[in-house]
Amino acid sequence: MKALGLLSGGLDSSLAVKMVMDQGIEVVAVKFTSAFCQCDTGGCNHAAELAGKLGIEFVTVAKGQEYLDIVREPKYGRGSGMNPCLDCRIFMLRKAKEIAEDIGASFIFTGEVLGQRPMSQRRVAMDLVEKEAGLEGKLVRPLSAQLLPPTEAEREGWLDREQLLAISGRGRKPQIKLAEEKGIVDYPCPAGGCLLTTKEFSAKLADHLAHSDRLDAADVAVLKVGRHFRIDGLKVVIGRDERENARLRDLAKERFIVIEPTSVPGPTCLCDAAAGEDVIVKAASIVARYSDGGGGAVALKIVSSSGQRAVEAEPMANGEIDSLRIAADKAPLTIEME
Ligand code: SF4
Repeated sequence: MKALGLLSGGLDSSLAVKMVMDQGIEVVAVKFTSAFCQCDTGGCNHAAELAGKLGIEFVTVAKGQEYLDIVREPKYGRGSGMNPCLDCRIFMLRKAKEIAEDIGASFIFTGEVLGQRPMSQRRVAMDLVEKEAGLEGKLVRPLSAQLLPPTEAEREGWLDREQLLAISGRGRKPQIKLAEEKGIVDYPCPAGGCLLTTKEFSAKLADHLAHSDRLDAADVAVLKVGRHFRIDGLKVVIGRDERENARLRDLAKERFIVIEPTSVPGPTCLCDAAAGEDVIVKAASIVARYSDGGGGAVALKIVSSSGQRAVEAEPMANGEIDSLRIAADKAPLTIEME
């Protein structure tokens, strides 16, 4: 008997894997990654490490352009940020179903806990996701199983329902106690992980989608770096430190004009390649404001596909900068699904 478990590396999915293994079932773990993962919170590495410690097969699946198209236009709305959690879970479970068929796994399970998350872990949402993924009555949630109808795995006797649990709600105490019993330690913070749930990133993404029909990996890479501004409908990005400046230079390619100070230290700026002189002048003025020019004029170079030229710019006033900045409090409203 083999089962496929979705393993994020967080506490709940780690416990679910251990619970299924403890019933004598061979587990293969799958971890989905995307351009919106904040892997420095440890989830990605932790999932691989845990799988290694448990001696189980571990597969990673990158959610590519197909997923970005869903993020751009989710069927079931978004959470409190730009997170399309229902569509995201449907997407992952559909992929998991394909993998399960390929490897001959008899069932799929997740670490979901009934009522833990406002959008995706309400009963009605869990049922919807299961149905849309083509897994009706077949998806096991070991941590909440006793609060849900028996799945095929329980009805067929592959899993002993009595050994599954009845955890619900947002509290973590039962899971922490169970982790101690099962020897699971060093799990990452449950809040870490998805940029789509953060306010600052959601504001940038909402602005991007309000101005563009395209969302690809290069767009997301730029959205993850720097201060973002919108000038006459065009995007301007300013690096916040040397690491971001270097990253922006890497990302410029043919989509952006690069503006950098030459007379004093200061930020790298990407300005939409479609920008006319009016926008370039304003972007240069923002660069001057964030440069170490002591409030005076700053010499800059402007590099585009047509070559390089030198200009001088006066720093933009703070009030005007604020009016052009893409900020969380200016983001279009998103749908909160409760
Ligand atoms: S928080 Fe992010 S990764 Fe998790 S289900 Fe929602 S959209 Fe997907």
